[in-house]
Amino acid sequence: MIATAQQIAGIGFTSQRTRTRMVCRLMDRGIHNEHLLQVLNTVPRHMFVDEAIASRAYEDVALPIGEGQTISQPYAVARMSEILLEDGPLRRVLEVGTGSGYQAAVLSQLADQVFSVERIRSLLDKARLRFRALQYRNIHTRYSDGGWGWASHGPFDGIMVTAAPRTVPEALLEQLAMGGRMIVPIGEQRKDQSLTIITRTPAGFVSRAESDVNFVPFLSGKS
Ligand code: SAH
Repeated sequence: MIATAQQIAGIGFTSQRTRTRMVCRLMDRGIHNEHLLQVLNTVPRHMFVDEAIASRAYEDVALPIGEGQTISQPYAVARMSEILLEDGPLRRVLEVGTGSGYQAAVLSQLADQVFSVERIRSLLDKARLRFRALQYRNIHTRYSDGGWGWASHGPFDGIMVTAAPRTVPEALLEQLAMGGRMIVPIGEQRKDQSLTIITRTPAGFVSRAESDVNFVPFLSGKS
């Protein structure tokens, strides 16, 4: 049966309502950047997961996206984005670990240009289709081991790593602009990772750890 315009509008309406509820929960948990909250209220997270689990897209959980990877939970996306924005507006951002593309889509509404690198081809292909369908034109992607960063487009005033390395890859530090900040979950064991914020200052790199998190591992090479 072909859906009527009213039914289609109904689906849109329902997802907008659940999305707004997600944003309210994030506010309750302490996310307060207005611009970010507006963006989270518009990016259609349900379009970044398979249709079979789309109805769960707005729950505050990580969900499977295939290849043993996950779309990060909304709180992690919100908190990491908020930290990246603490020093003001962002021009160029590098994301390592495109995955579903959701985090890149959120960043694309907060920064001038987003460069996102993914090491699993099939995930990147799907994310690219989503960016095209949703017309996110300022997201640039590359199939590569993100440990190398993307030097030709750097330096970046923000770098976000969405998989957990044991230590920060040297190339990423080198591609951080002066005054820029990187946010990266560090730690090999899933149970023992800390969200680390690294700022590049004239006196060197300054780092602080914020909280325990649970990200998929950062792996070398392409797949
Ligand atoms: N930001 C994603 C989160 C996906 S999970 C989202 O919003 O959906 C983390 C992703 O990092 C996975 O897709 C994984 O394949 C990728 N990844 C892990 N190590 C990587 C590396 N060295 N280079 C690039 N991507 C990597």
